[in-house]
Amino acid sequence: MTMASRALIVMMTCVLAGLPAHAAGRFALEQAADGIHVHRGQQAESSPENGGDIANIGFIVGKRCTAVIDTGGTAAIGRDLLMAIRQTSRLPICYVINTHVHPDHAFGDSAFKDSGAEFVAHASFPAALAARRGAYQSRLAQTVGDVADGSDIVVPSRVVAADDTLQLDLGGRTIRVQAWPTAHTDHDITVFDEQTATLWTGDLLFVDRIPVIDGKVLGWVKVIERLRALKPAHLIPGHGPINRPFETAFDSEKNYLNDVITKMRSAVEMGRTLQAAVDSDSDSDERAHWILFDDYHRRNLTAAYTELEWE
Ligand SMILES: [Zn+2]
Repeated sequence: MTMASRALIVMMTCVLAGLPAHAAGRFALEQAADGIHVHRGQQAESSPENGGDIANIGFIVGKRCTAVIDTGGTAAIGRDLLMAIRQTSRLPICYVINTHVHPDHAFGDSAFKDSGAEFVAHASFPAALAARRGAYQSRLAQTVGDVADGSDIVVPSRVVAADDTLQLDLGGRTIRVQAWPTAHTDHDITVFDEQTATLWTGDLLFVDRIPVIDGKVLGWVKVIERLRALKPAHLIPGHGPINRPFETAFDSEKNYLNDVITKMRSAVEMGRTLQAAVDSDSDSDERAHWILFDDYHRRNLTAAYTELEWE
Protein backbone atom coordinates (compact mmCIF):
# COMPACT_ATOMS: atom_id res chain seq x y z
CA MET A 1 0.00 0.00 0.00
CA THR A 2 1.38 3.44 -0.84
CA MET A 3 1.76 6.22 1.74
CA ALA A 4 -0.92 8.20 -0.08
CA SER A 5 -3.51 5.42 -0.03
CA ARG A 6 -2.74 4.68 3.62
CA ALA A 7 -3.23 8.37 4.43
CA LEU A 8 -6.49 8.31 2.47
CA ILE A 9 -7.80 5.34 4.44
CA VAL A 10 -7.00 7.07 7.74
CA MET A 11 -8.74 10.20 6.52
CA MET A 12 -11.78 8.26 5.24
CA THR A 13 -12.05 6.42 8.56
CA CYS A 14 -12.05 9.75 10.35
CA VAL A 15 -14.61 11.23 7.99
CA LEU A 16 -16.87 8.23 8.47
CA ALA A 17 -16.50 8.48 12.23
CA GLY A 18 -17.22 12.22 11.99
CA LEU A 19 -13.98 13.03 13.76
CA PRO A 20 -10.97 15.15 12.85
CA ALA A 21 -7.85 13.08 12.18
CA HIS A 22 -6.17 14.04 15.44
CA ALA A 23 -9.24 13.37 17.57
CA ALA A 24 -9.44 9.84 16.16
CA GLY A 25 -6.05 9.16 17.71
CA ARG A 26 -4.40 8.95 14.30
CA PHE A 27 -2.56 11.83 12.80
CA ALA A 28 -2.36 11.32 9.05
CA LEU A 29 0.91 12.12 7.31
CA GLU A 30 1.73 12.21 3.63
CA GLN A 31 5.24 12.12 2.23
CA ALA A 32 5.83 14.96 -0.22
CA ALA A 33 9.37 13.81 -1.03
CA ASP A 34 12.05 11.69 0.64
CA GLY A 35 12.18 12.69 4.33
CA ILE A 36 9.51 15.39 3.98
CA HIS A 37 6.32 14.65 5.88
CA VAL A 38 3.12 16.68 5.68
CA HIS A 39 -0.05 16.61 7.72
CA ARG A 40 -2.81 18.10 5.61
CA GLY A 41 -5.41 20.21 7.34
CA GLN A 42 -9.03 20.15 6.24
CA GLN A 43 -10.25 22.60 3.62
CA ALA A 44 -12.64 24.34 6.01
CA GLU A 45 -12.92 27.13 8.54
CA SER A 46 -11.73 26.31 12.05
CA SER A 47 -14.55 24.81 14.12
CA PRO A 48 -15.12 22.64 17.20
CA GLU A 49 -15.69 19.71 14.80
CA ASN A 50 -12.27 19.96 13.11
CA GLY A 51 -10.51 21.28 16.22
CA GLY A 52 -8.72 23.97 14.18
CA ASP A 53 -6.92 21.35 12.10
CA ILE A 54 -7.13 23.26 8.80
CA ALA A 55 -3.56 24.14 7.75
CA ASN A 56 -0.79 22.05 6.20
CA ILE A 57 2.01 21.43 8.69
CA GLY A 58 4.90 18.98 8.96
CA PHE A 59 8.62 18.33 9.13
CA ILE A 60 11.83 17.63 7.24
CA VAL A 61 14.26 14.99 8.54
CA GLY A 62 18.01 15.32 7.97
CA LYS A 63 20.86 13.10 9.19
CA ARG A 64 21.53 15.26 12.25
CA CYS A 65 18.16 16.69 13.18
CA THR A 66 14.61 17.59 12.17
CA ALA A 67 13.04 20.91 11.18
CA VAL A 68 9.34 21.51 11.85
CA ILE A 69 7.43 23.76 9.49
CA ASP A 70 4.30 25.22 11.05
CA THR A 71 2.72 23.62 14.10
CA GLY A 72 -1.06 23.74 13.57
CA GLY A 73 -4.07 25.55 14.97
CA THR A 74 -3.88 24.42 18.63
CA ALA A 75 -1.46 22.99 21.19
CA ALA A 76 -3.30 19.66 20.80
CA ILE A 77 -2.46 19.54 17.09
CA GLY A 78 1.11 20.55 17.90
CA ARG A 79 1.35 17.62 20.34
CA ASP A 80 0.01 15.24 17.69
CA LEU A 81 2.64 16.54 15.30
CA LEU A 82 5.36 16.11 17.93
CA MET A 83 4.23 12.53 18.50
CA ALA A 84 4.23 11.83 14.77
CA ILE A 85 7.78 13.19 14.56
CA ARG A 86 8.88 10.97 17.44
CA GLN A 87 7.39 7.94 15.66
CA THR A 88 9.33 8.83 12.51
CA SER A 89 12.74 9.87 13.86
CA ARG A 90 14.68 9.83 17.13
CA LEU A 91 16.84 12.77 16.05
CA PRO A 92 16.53 16.06 17.94
CA ILE A 93 14.29 18.83 16.62
CA CYS A 94 16.64 21.71 15.89
CA TYR A 95 14.27 24.21 14.28
CA VAL A 96 10.62 25.18 14.37
CA ILE A 97 9.96 27.46 11.42
CA ASN A 98 6.78 29.56 11.45
CA THR A 99 5.83 30.52 7.88
CA HIS A 100 3.67 33.34 9.28
CA VAL A 101 1.69 34.20 12.39
CA HIS A 102 -1.84 33.14 11.35
CA PRO A 103 -3.43 31.13 14.16
CA ASP A 104 -4.21 28.02 12.10
CA HIS A 105 -0.47 27.63 11.39
CA ALA A 106 1.18 28.75 14.61
CA PHE A 107 -0.86 28.01 17.75
CA GLY A 108 0.69 24.55 18.01
CA ASP A 109 4.05 26.22 18.79
CA SER A 110 3.50 25.78 22.52
CA ALA A 111 3.86 21.99 22.11
CA PHE A 112 7.48 22.57 20.99
CA LYS A 113 8.44 25.13 23.63
CA ASP A 114 10.53 22.63 25.60
CA SER A 115 11.86 20.69 22.61
CA GLY A 116 15.14 22.60 22.60
CA ALA A 117 14.40 23.80 19.06
CA GLU A 118 15.30 27.23 17.81
CA PHE A 119 12.21 29.14 16.61
CA VAL A 120 12.76 30.75 13.21
CA ALA A 121 10.55 33.36 11.55
CA HIS A 122 10.50 36.54 9.48
CA ALA A 123 11.97 39.69 11.06
CA SER A 124 8.50 41.28 11.00
CA PHE A 125 6.92 38.27 12.75
CA PRO A 126 7.48 39.49 16.35
CA ALA A 127 5.69 42.80 15.70
CA ALA A 128 2.77 41.05 14.01
CA LEU A 129 2.56 38.60 16.91
CA ALA A 130 2.64 41.38 19.51
CA ALA A 131 -0.15 43.24 17.72
CA ARG A 132 -2.40 40.21 17.30
CA ARG A 133 -1.73 37.73 20.08
CA GLY A 134 -4.50 38.93 22.41
CA ALA A 135 -7.18 38.97 19.72
CA TYR A 136 -6.05 35.60 18.36
CA GLN A 137 -6.10 34.05 21.84
CA SER A 138 -9.63 35.18 22.66
CA ARG A 139 -10.95 34.24 19.24
CA LEU A 140 -9.40 30.75 19.36
CA ALA A 141 -11.43 29.63 22.36
CA GLN A 142 -14.62 30.85 20.67
CA THR A 143 -13.77 29.07 17.41
CA VAL A 144 -12.55 25.65 18.52
CA GLY A 145 -13.75 25.38 22.13
CA ASP A 146 -11.88 23.62 24.96
CA VAL A 147 -9.18 22.16 22.71
CA ALA A 148 -7.76 25.71 22.59
CA ASP A 149 -6.30 25.19 26.10
CA GLY A 150 -2.56 25.77 26.31
CA SER A 151 -2.23 27.05 22.75
CA ASP A 152 0.31 29.79 22.20
CA ILE A 153 2.55 31.22 19.50
CA VAL A 154 6.26 31.42 20.34
CA VAL A 155 8.40 34.53 19.75
CA PRO A 156 11.20 33.53 17.34
CA SER A 157 14.75 33.27 18.65
CA ARG A 158 16.13 33.73 15.15
CA VAL A 159 14.72 35.98 12.44
CA VAL A 160 15.33 36.49 8.73
CA ALA A 161 15.08 39.98 7.23
CA ALA A 162 12.80 40.60 4.24
CA ASP A 163 14.44 39.52 0.97
CA ASP A 164 17.13 37.67 2.88
CA THR A 165 17.73 33.93 3.13
CA LEU A 166 19.04 31.67 5.85
CA GLN A 167 20.61 28.27 5.14
CA LEU A 168 19.97 25.66 7.81
CA ASP A 169 21.95 22.44 7.89
CA LEU A 170 19.96 19.41 9.07
CA GLY A 171 22.93 17.10 8.45
CA GLY A 172 23.50 16.08 4.84
CA ARG A 173 20.53 18.22 3.94
CA THR A 174 20.38 21.99 3.59
CA ILE A 175 17.14 23.91 3.68
CA ARG A 176 16.88 27.50 2.55
CA VAL A 177 14.59 29.74 4.56
CA GLN A 178 13.59 32.79 2.57
CA ALA A 179 11.85 35.87 3.96
CA TRP A 180 9.71 37.82 1.48
CA PRO A 181 8.62 41.42 1.07
CA THR A 182 4.97 42.01 1.97
CA ALA A 183 2.68 39.61 0.06
CA HIS A 184 0.11 37.28 1.73
CA THR A 185 1.18 38.99 4.99
CA ASP A 186 4.05 41.35 5.87
CA HIS A 187 6.07 38.43 7.26
CA ASP A 188 5.87 35.42 4.92
CA ILE A 189 8.57 32.78 4.89
CA THR A 190 9.12 29.84 2.53
CA VAL A 191 11.35 26.81 2.97
CA PHE A 192 13.17 25.17 0.07
CA ASP A 193 14.80 21.76 0.47
CA GLU A 194 17.75 21.65 -1.92
CA GLN A 195 18.10 17.87 -1.94
CA THR A 196 14.62 17.21 -3.34
CA ALA A 197 13.74 20.66 -4.76
CA THR A 198 10.71 20.75 -2.50
CA LEU A 199 9.14 24.15 -1.87
CA TRP A 200 7.12 24.65 1.29
CA THR A 201 5.17 27.83 0.61
CA GLY A 202 3.16 28.58 3.74
CA ASP A 203 0.17 30.67 2.70
CA LEU A 204 1.95 32.24 -0.24
CA LEU A 205 0.18 29.42 -2.06
CA PHE A 206 -3.39 28.25 -1.56
CA VAL A 207 -4.53 25.27 -3.61
CA ASP A 208 -8.31 24.91 -4.19
CA ARG A 209 -9.08 27.05 -1.11
CA ILE A 210 -9.53 30.77 -1.79
CA PRO A 211 -6.39 32.84 -1.01
CA VAL A 212 -6.69 35.41 1.78
CA ILE A 213 -5.06 38.82 1.38
CA ASP A 214 -3.64 40.04 4.69
CA GLY A 215 -0.68 41.91 3.18
CA LYS A 216 -0.38 43.52 -0.24
CA VAL A 217 -1.95 41.97 -3.31
CA LEU A 218 0.49 43.76 -5.66
CA GLY A 219 3.43 42.42 -3.68
CA TRP A 220 1.92 38.95 -3.65
CA VAL A 221 1.69 38.58 -7.45
CA LYS A 222 5.34 39.63 -7.69
CA VAL A 223 6.39 37.04 -5.12
CA ILE A 224 4.40 34.37 -7.00
CA GLU A 225 6.56 35.04 -10.08
CA ARG A 226 9.72 34.55 -8.04
CA LEU A 227 8.43 31.34 -6.43
CA ARG A 228 7.36 29.99 -9.81
CA ALA A 229 10.89 30.65 -11.11
CA LEU A 230 12.24 28.18 -8.53
CA LYS A 231 10.55 25.41 -10.57
CA PRO A 232 10.02 23.18 -7.53
CA ALA A 233 9.77 19.44 -8.18
CA HIS A 234 7.55 19.05 -5.11
CA LEU A 235 5.16 21.61 -3.75
CA ILE A 236 3.56 21.98 -0.32
CA PRO A 237 0.98 24.78 -0.12
CA GLY A 238 -0.30 26.30 3.11
CA HIS A 239 -3.72 24.85 2.33
CA GLY A 240 -4.83 22.15 -0.08
CA PRO A 241 -3.36 19.09 -1.82
CA ILE A 242 0.42 18.70 -2.05
CA ASN A 243 2.49 18.10 -5.17
CA ARG A 244 0.27 19.75 -7.74
CA PRO A 245 2.34 20.85 -10.77
CA PHE A 246 3.76 24.22 -9.78
CA GLU A 247 2.70 25.95 -13.01
CA THR A 248 -1.01 25.24 -12.59
CA ALA A 249 -0.98 25.78 -8.83
CA PHE A 250 0.67 29.20 -9.01
CA ASP A 251 -1.24 30.26 -12.12
CA SER A 252 -4.66 29.58 -10.56
CA GLU A 253 -3.76 31.74 -7.58
CA LYS A 254 -2.19 34.45 -9.71
CA ASN A 255 -5.26 34.56 -11.98
CA TYR A 256 -7.51 35.07 -8.99
CA LEU A 257 -5.35 37.82 -7.50
CA ASN A 258 -4.95 39.55 -10.86
CA ASP A 259 -8.72 39.44 -11.36
CA VAL A 260 -9.16 41.14 -7.98
CA ILE A 261 -6.52 43.76 -8.89
CA THR A 262 -8.07 44.53 -12.29
CA LYS A 263 -11.59 44.91 -10.93
CA MET A 264 -10.67 47.02 -7.91
CA ARG A 265 -8.27 49.20 -9.88
CA SER A 266 -10.97 50.05 -12.38
CA ALA A 267 -13.47 50.67 -9.57
CA VAL A 268 -11.03 53.13 -7.96
CA GLU A 269 -10.45 54.82 -11.33
CA MET A 270 -14.21 55.13 -11.90
CA GLY A 271 -14.55 56.77 -8.50
CA ARG A 272 -16.75 54.01 -7.04
CA THR A 273 -17.08 53.82 -3.27
CA LEU A 274 -15.61 50.82 -1.49
CA GLN A 275 -19.09 49.41 -0.91
CA ALA A 276 -20.11 49.84 -4.56
CA ALA A 277 -16.80 48.36 -5.72
CA VAL A 278 -17.23 45.25 -3.58
CA ASP A 279 -20.91 44.85 -4.56
CA SER A 280 -20.02 45.14 -8.24
CA ASP A 281 -18.25 41.77 -8.19
CA SER A 282 -21.01 39.68 -6.63
CA ASP A 283 -21.12 37.15 -9.48
CA SER A 284 -17.41 36.59 -10.09
CA ASP A 285 -16.41 33.77 -12.48
CA GLU A 286 -13.77 32.84 -9.92
CA ARG A 287 -16.42 31.53 -7.50
CA ALA A 288 -16.48 28.15 -9.28
CA HIS A 289 -12.76 27.59 -8.69
CA TRP A 290 -12.45 28.06 -4.93
CA ILE A 291 -13.59 26.48 -1.68
CA LEU A 292 -14.85 29.05 0.92
CA PHE A 293 -15.16 31.68 -1.82
CA ASP A 294 -18.08 33.49 -0.20
CA ASP A 295 -16.32 33.61 3.18
CA TYR A 296 -13.32 35.56 1.91
CA HIS A 297 -13.85 37.09 -1.52
CA ARG A 298 -15.50 40.32 -0.33
CA ARG A 299 -12.82 40.71 2.31
CA ASN A 300 -10.14 40.30 -0.38
CA LEU A 301 -11.83 42.91 -2.59
CA THR A 302 -11.89 45.29 0.36
CA ALA A 303 -8.18 44.75 1.07
CA ALA A 304 -7.26 45.25 -2.59
CA TYR A 305 -9.42 48.37 -2.98
CA THR A 306 -7.85 49.93 0.09
CA GLU A 307 -4.36 49.17 -1.21
CA LEU A 308 -5.02 50.36 -4.77
CA GLU A 309 -6.70 53.55 -3.63
CA TRP A 310 -3.22 54.87 -2.75
CA GLU A 311 -1.48 53.65 -5.87
ZN1 LIG B 1 -2.31 32.47 6.43
